[in-house]
Amino acid sequence: MPLSASFVIPAPLKRAAAAARAVLRGALDLALPTLCAACREPVEGRGLCPSCWSKLSFITRPYCERLGIPFVYDPGPGILSMEAIADPPAYNRARAAVRFDDVSRALVHALKYGDRLDLAPMMGRWISHAGRELLAEADALVPVPLHWRRLWARRFNQSAMLAGAISSESGVPVVGGALKRVKATAQQVGLSRTERAANVQGAFCVPSEGKAAVAGRRLVLVDDVLTSGATVEGCARALLRAGAANVDVLIFARVADPVRTSL
Ligand SMILES: [Zn+2]
Repeated sequence: MPLSASFVIPAPLKRAAAAARAVLRGALDLALPTLCAACREPVEGRGLCPSCWSKLSFITRPYCERLGIPFVYDPGPGILSMEAIADPPAYNRARAAVRFDDVSRALVHALKYGDRLDLAPMMGRWISHAGRELLAEADALVPVPLHWRRLWARRFNQSAMLAGAISSESGVPVVGGALKRVKATAQQVGLSRTERAANVQGAFCVPSEGKAAVAGRRLVLVDDVLTSGATVEGCARALLRAGAANVDVLIFARVADPVRTSL
């Protein structure tokens, strides 16, 4: 008998082991029903329970064509907000799927810290719908990078997860390594708008190996939450400096107090 034969598991045993695993998986599924990502009640299927779903606030037109922030009333097509005119961003256009509130915050936290990676396809679908015009003109998606130390601690980048889901939905490819976070920035929470801008100053760059994927291309930055916009502004500046032809922004949830028009 050749020596290796002692390591071969007979086929009937293999089948028995596979069957046992299937039964165990079934038992675990029964024991651990999927929970609503926001209120943690058991749900049918995945994601959110009907009550939390009804509380989500999707962002639709009318909104500022540049910043994507909803208007109080409909000023007609193509109108910009006061904010977009007074303080224009480096990026071209931004769109977000939902407003940042209790339910969307719970979704973002579940994806980011709770290992609910199963939520990414659903969130990616909503973002793709909100950004379909931007995606139709895009060459590639660029996730907002984490500093390697935070990536190491968290094990994955939630923006890259969302970019992957948007890519499956839209067919626009993701370019990895186009942007690098070169400064380990402090958490943005609790900082003023000016402090946030200073915090991300010089935090992002396009590494030399990423230049070919950026120069002359129409890019869409992807992030989970937009608060002051300082992070995507820092990223957009770095991409434009490296020769990007256009930079748009897609976000899952944004802080969006209705704004007034420029009229
Ligand atoms: Zn719920």
